[in-house]
Amino acid sequence: MEKREKGKGKPKKDVETRRAASSRWEKLFPTETTSPGETRALGERIAAHLTAGDLVALYGDLGAGKTQLAKGIGRGLGVPERDVRSPTFTLVHEHAEGGRLPLYHIDAYRLGDPDELRELGYERYFYGEGVCVVEWPGRIEALLPETAIRLRLSHQGRDKRRIERVEAEGMDG
Ligand code: ADP
Ligand code: MG
Repeated sequence: MEKREKGKGKPKKDVETRRAASSRWEKLFPTETTSPGETRALGERIAAHLTAGDLVALYGDLGAGKTQLAKGIGRGLGVPERDVRSPTFTLVHEHAEGGRLPLYHIDAYRLGDPDELRELGYERYFYGEGVCVVEWPGRIEALLPETAIRLRLSHQGRDKRRIERVEAEGMDG
């Protein structure tokens, strides 16, 4: 952690890092895809910009394409694609092998209580050596790091999806 002097506001480096972090997404979002394959391809492009300790929060209804996007991110990181599927019964899928970075894929849909994630040692996934992708992040909003990359996917028709970057406020899914 960087030391912060009282009354001097945020350290300059922090502000610059945030600005750079934000601008890396400006070219990608908002966007629309017209097939699951296109959403996976978008995931691959997202993955190219990800580094260790990044968390990608995927908001959106059932069928919005969160898992398709996660698959693409996995592919972009070099994780065997067939392995990336909704971790519905296990909460977390760890893909430690084969990729540029480990991928931790979390589905909070069935999470009863954020304490379940605390017990699991979520810090290892959120602030670890890999990239963390979270489906249904609204269920664990309070635990998400301030730096989370929040994406909202929404239905625009049968095969059309809008994917945009959103801020933390007012999230419910
Ligand atoms: P979620 O994880 O958000 O519940 P999934 O990724 O599991 O959603 O499922 C998305 C469903 O929508 C899949 O059946 C997929 O084939 C379909 N689909 C149709 N068009 C798209 C698109 N443009 N992007 C992603 N999925 C799409
Ligand atoms: Mg899913």
